[in-house]
Amino acid sequence: LLLAVGFQLNAAKETLTVITVPNSPYVINNNGDFQGFLPELLAKLGEKAGVAFKGALQDDGRYGMEEEDGSWNGMIGSVVNGKADMAAADLTMTAARERVVDFTVPFMQTGITILYYQPTWKKMIKTFKSLEDLMDQDDIKFGCVKGGATERFFKNSKVGFYNKVWEKMIEMDEMTSNNDEGIQKVLAGGYAYLIESSSAEYAMTQYCDLTTVGGNINLRNYALALPQGSQYRETFNLALLELMEEGEISALKDKWWNKNAKSCDQVSSLLASFADFF
Ligand code: GLU
Repeated sequence: LLLAVGFQLNAAKETLTVITVPNSPYVINNNGDFQGFLPELLAKLGEKAGVAFKGALQDDGRYGMEEEDGSWNGMIGSVVNGKADMAAADLTMTAARERVVDFTVPFMQTGITILYYQPTWKKMIKTFKSLEDLMDQDDIKFGCVKGGATERFFKNSKVGFYNKVWEKMIEMDEMTSNNDEGIQKVLAGGYAYLIESSSAEYAMTQYCDLTTVGGNINLRNYALALPQGSQYRETFNLALLELMEEGEISALKDKWWNKNAKSCDQVSSLLASFADFF
């Protein structure tokens, strides 16, 4: 009887379609097999909430911005249009988005920072210290990912200086389709990238000569996005809060941020820099 009940419970398990945009180490797409921090978090969440998840790729590769006509693109658009039951990514909670979707409680805190390439042998030469410095010069170009919360922050800020940053980014035409592209531009030199700090933190574990400048420009949170009025929100919130309290979420963060970390001690990066130099 117990077996039969167990089987029925399993058979009744609802499968939700989860839309995502790959960005290491949150979501890594290995030929349609999703790995990383979020797939593991969802496995734990699904176990607690009694649901299963099936991943799908967001075809425009965007996080989500409001179009002129009020419609939404990106993952937010997919949740609004009912193409997906949920969005799971390094998806930022914003007021504009909260108006059209229901976010769960946040699973990670982050901010906007500036990622820059600075080999050890050049550490003494400080090119710029802040976004203000960056705006005051024309040698180093800069940008952020297109169609996400960072672009929207600069575009729609009530702070005039930030709007000027956005205008200059548009004028320079150096925005990217994803963080990977931004990181490659930074590594190529002469480019600073406005990126969320948790992604910057990961990039720095992959390339020793990357550094952040100016601290966090603002604070924000990542959460899962559900359609408005979703029956799952309360269950998922309870499960997420439990996972947080049990230390599972921090453990996953530690695991995925240290997994492939390069050893960036001074000596090895100095040697690498000499190799670059000659
Ligand atoms: N996390 C952002 C979003 O949800 C994407 C990355 C960014 O804008 O820097 O839109």
